[in-house]
Amino acid sequence: INWFPGHMHKARKEIKQLMPKIDVVIEVLDARLPYSSSNPLVPLLRGEKPFLKILNKSDLADPAVTKRWVETLQQEPGVKAIALHQKQKGEVKRILELCQKMMPEGRNYIIKPLNALILGIPNVGKSTLINTLADRAIAQTGNTPAVTKIQQRIKLPSNIVLYDTPGFLWPRLEPEACGYRLALSAAIKDSIFEYEDAALFMAEYLLDRYPAITQKHFRLTELPVDNIEMLEMIAVVRGHMRKGGIPDIHKVATAMINDYRSGVLGKVTLETPEMVEAELAAVEQAQ
Ligand code: GDP
Repeated sequence: INWFPGHMHKARKEIKQLMPKIDVVIEVLDARLPYSSSNPLVPLLRGEKPFLKILNKSDLADPAVTKRWVETLQQEPGVKAIALHQKQKGEVKRILELCQKMMPEGRNYIIKPLNALILGIPNVGKSTLINTLADRAIAQTGNTPAVTKIQQRIKLPSNIVLYDTPGFLWPRLEPEACGYRLALSAAIKDSIFEYEDAALFMAEYLLDRYPAITQKHFRLTELPVDNIEMLEMIAVVRGHMRKGGIPDIHKVATAMINDYRSGVLGKVTLETPEMVEAELAAVEQAQ
């Protein structure tokens, strides 16, 4: 996908036009990368309306880190955060109650429905969530980012009207680490990043934060000294070798990324609130 300025401008305009009607904004995030998977436009809407942040795919994320993310996000006034995954159908229904609870008291939903705007960058699980909320298949779901969707207005039970994001929301591509995390989570197209680079980024992170999971999952007899050695060791263990005993790094990288995306690698979150804070501070200092 190319995130053209014209397209960003259009999405911004459409959302702005819609905002006066909206009572509550719901942003769907990937629980493994709650900052990187947030859309850069969304903070501009904050403060205006009650905000619900859904940390989706929490089945794939590190529960302890998800808990900290929920606490951190809720520190902002008017923001509620909740961890979720698609198998929790009952829990999904709670979202509707939460939305109503965030509204001023005494509102009569029979007379005036609650208008909720749902936002999310591609592949965070927004369509799956909408389908569960609506109890039927409306939104198209898919494994590849940016399945074509048209703007939708969906009537939910409990007299809530859900407005699906008009236009696509683009992902955050800065700081640089955000791009890698989005690539690893499959939020951005495979054709726009190098598998080897993303795998090296992930290897360094895994060695730093999840050494035990890493060693066990990849059956490494000892911990590698760095990310390059880690890829080479995995090549040997998995037999991803080319002629002449040269490690096939592309094959290793693909296998590592697939293991991460499918969840078999384990519950690994790619960023913590502290990491993001430090990265943003570094960007600010560089400017
Ligand atoms: P959208 O682009 O945000 O609308 O995302 P989709 O709803 O199409 O979902 C993208 C992919 O994520 C699909 O393969 C879904 O099956 C998967 N997915 C959605 N929600 C969850 C979840 O809670 N956990 C896991 N493991 N996968 C999910």
